[in-house]
Order: sequence, then structure tokens, then C-alpha cells
Amino acid sequence: MKHANVALFVPHAGCPYRCSFCNQRTISGALNSPVAQDVRKACEIAVKSGNANPENSEIAFFGGSFTAIDEEYMISLLESAKEYIDKKYFKGIRISTRPDCIDGRKLEILKRYGVTSIELGAQSMDNSVLALNNRGHSAEDVVNASRLISEYGFSLGLQMMTGLFGSDRDKDILTARRLIDLKPDTVRIYPTIVLENTELAKRLETGEYKAQSLDEAVELCALLLLMFRKNGVKVIRLGLHSGGSVEEGYIAGAYHPAFRELCEGEIYLKQMLECLGKKDRGRQYVIEVPQKSISKAIGQSKRNEKALKKAGFYCKIKGNDFLDDYEIKVKEL
Ligand code: SF4
Repeated sequence: MKHANVALFVPHAGCPYRCSFCNQRTISGALNSPVAQDVRKACEIAVKSGNANPENSEIAFFGGSFTAIDEEYMISLLESAKEYIDKKYFKGIRISTRPDCIDGRKLEILKRYGVTSIELGAQSMDNSVLALNNRGHSAEDVVNASRLISEYGFSLGLQMMTGLFGSDRDKDILTARRLIDLKPDTVRIYPTIVLENTELAKRLETGEYKAQSLDEAVELCALLLLMFRKNGVKVIRLGLHSGGSVEEGYIAGAYHPAFRELCEGEIYLKQMLECLGKKDRGRQYVIEVPQKSISKAIGQSKRNEKALKKAGFYCKIKGNDFLDDYEIKVKEL
């Protein structure tokens, strides 16, 4: 059976603020908030199509500030989802919410209804960046909520953004460091995208804000990916999902439907250039990479192969089943 989340978007429903970059209706592609019956319908579809698996499938409520929505409404959604947890069709329920909308009472409710994972939209750990983007919470809120979530035994997920208004490379790296300190189980990294009908779109128009280029975001996110990996934190998402209506609402920013692949390609390129280091230019080399990563190592449109050639190295990239992710071996031909 395939791993499948039943994903239900609760757009804007509980948001006390309007973040500078956010147009959740565009991101989720969902205009209406789901009701209890919609949850049942989505779960039934997953069950009937054989895509529900008690080992690893989850019912996920994304898109809004789940614990900030009207409590009666929140419980009605959870109750419907719990029916399918009790029948052992799914492993648990995942929700995403704001760091300032978590307290012991709310966590007790979530636990009672079978929630197992909580993701917090931290976005930045720099208070000035948070304020400039109307987040309405502080970095301390992220720390406190994360600790509470872990103490209550939930799996903790943290989301961060790069290239926010008022941020820069150093601040984004510092955010990643501070998130690592909170020992999350998972992380999602989203480069900032400027969408229509957002405050960021206005700032872009007035010239106050300059969007991160795709190259800048790829270089930075490749570094962040390695940082999290070295610290045992799984990065479960890198870049916004394609589909929904992002492409329609897109104005500027580092968006690419295969963003993670670009970042992983960048990691391989850096590793290859580092290993080739002071080796003789103009010679031929074989570079072994994990079998499953050959296309990432070659790069989109052979970008990496071309970069190696430009640096004076003629390389043949081959797969090796015994290498771990991002591990490479260089041999002279
Ligand atoms: S808290 Fe989340 S959903 Fe609400 S406005 Fe901000 S980014 Fe959008």
C-alpha cells in the first residue's frame, strides 16, 4: 500500500493576522473551509482506493492556524477524522498551526482526538523579521510552543522561510540553527514567493522588497538542507508544492516545481568541485554518486556536467549502490 495523507486545507480560518506573504486561498487552491462531512468523504476515498495505511498514512489539516479556529468547529473536524483513526485506517492526525496558538489545554484536546504531529509555522527566528512580515508572534513563542509540543509527546514539525522581507542569508542560516536547537522531528523550508493580493506584492511594487532569485534560494537552501541533515533533522519539504493555484497567483520569488531537486543538484556540484579540488584540469574523471541520485548529480539540463567542464574537468557520472546520500567518489580515468 502506498503512503498517503488525506490533506484538508482550512484556509485563513483561524488567522488573527495577515502575514505579509500569505494568500492561503491561493496556496491551498481551496476556497471553502471543509466541514465534518468533507473530512469523512476524503477519508472514505482514501480507504476505498486502498491508499490508507495504518503504518504511515496520516490525515492532515493544513493551510490555516488550526488551533486558532473556533473550538467547536475544530473539534467537529477532529471528531470525523478520529473515526478513521479508531478504525485503524490511518496512523494519526497531523495539523499545522501558529506558535502563539498552542497551550496545554489545546494540546490536551488534540491528544484526545488522535493528533500525533504538530507543525508550527516558525518562518523566522529573528524578531524584527517576524514583525516586518506581520507574523504577530515572536521567536520566543516558537521556542515555548516547541517545548510544550515535545513535552506532550507529539511529533514536532517546524516550518521556516527564506528571503522574507527584512531577512538575509545570515538571518536565514541563524533561523535554521535555532530551529535545530529545538530538536524538531521534521522541517519544511519554503523560499518566499510573492503572490498576488499580498502585502509583499505591494512592497515589491514600491521597491521596498527585493525577491530572492532562484539561484540565491537554491544555493542557500542546499546549505540549509545539509545543516539539518547533519543534525539528524529530516527535511520533508523544500519549496512550495506545484499545483494548487500558486502558478496563477505568482508574481516573483524563487519558485520551481522541482525546487528540491535543484538544491540537491547544487549539493552534488559543490561536493564534486570540492573533491576535484586541486586535481589536474583537462583530465578525465569518473565520479561515482548514489545510484538513485545520478540525475541530481548531472543536474537539470546537464547543468552540473556543464559547470564541471567549465571548471576544466571532464567527468563521467556513474551510479554506485553503496554510497549514501550526497556521498561521492572521484577516480581518474
Ligand atoms: S498565520 Fe499562516 S495562514 Fe495565517 S496569514 Fe499567516 S501564513 Fe497565512
